[in-house]
Amino acid sequence: MSLADLPPLREALERHDLMARKSFGQHFLLDLNITRKIARLAEVHEGDTVVEVGPGPGGLTRALLETGARVVAIEKDSRFLPLLAELSEAADGRLELVEGDALKVDGAKAAGDVPAHVVSNLPYNVGTQLLINWLTGPFKPLSMTLMFQKEVADRIVATTDDDAYGRLAVISQVLCDAKTVMDLPAKAFTPPPKVASAVVRLVPKADPPPADIIAALERVTAAAFGQRRKMLRSSLKALGGGELCEKAGISPDARAEVIDLAGFLALARATLG
Ligand code: SAM
Repeated sequence: MSLADLPPLREALERHDLMARKSFGQHFLLDLNITRKIARLAEVHEGDTVVEVGPGPGGLTRALLETGARVVAIEKDSRFLPLLAELSEAADGRLELVEGDALKVDGAKAAGDVPAHVVSNLPYNVGTQLLINWLTGPFKPLSMTLMFQKEVADRIVATTDDDAYGRLAVISQVLCDAKTVMDLPAKAFTPPPKVASAVVRLVPKADPPPADIIAALERVTAAAFGQRRKMLRSSLKALGGGELCEKAGISPDARAEVIDLAGFLALARATLG
């Protein structure tokens, strides 16, 4: 059987007697028009390697395989592995399955130590943590095209004008160009979640700040946004307060929400002397 001959996703789920489980954050995309659009937005091409977290019934996996890419899919719910093994066969082995928790799997090793993109309709309960791991950990994806709850997507792409601007926006945008590329209503999923979703595409910057600056940035943004209503002289007290701000050329009377990426980078550098 080839990819084109596979049964519709609903039929595959029925045949394997599979129901969504809330504890695994399972909300499936069963419309291949939507998953193909996500694969297009991910700009994945023949010969690329893609790491997918949570293939579930394999709708997004099918769309990624149709591009000619090699897909390494990490799935925690072992019930889906027989169905996914059929998909792997239909794709002539271009789909490799890893059973496990994506929080614990070494993405680089899973990809076979070749450069890889990450594309995923993420399980909501671990989505933000996985993004932080890919942004700051040893596995450096070539790009990330990720479905989040809309509220989390907004926090990733927010700028100083937005209520959603905070730590996640600063860390994500210092390291990557990040933009929302697709909005999806809850009804696009089976079963529908309580909230809307959005796909964010993140492309790492060519010349990111070194790891010690990023570690300092994490400390500064944690303190500044931990008390976001306070002036920086007070929220950053433990890191040097007003003196630190002056060293960084930032007004000590300002609040975190008005400090842009360059401002936070200046504060992070100032903490290192
Ligand atoms: N990709 C499928 C789709 O779009 O229809 C399923 C997406 S569903 C939102 C999330 C998937 O991630 C489920 O298949 C779930 O079992 C899996 N999952 C949940 N937690 C996981 C984890 N920690 N590691 C790997 N997979 C996980």
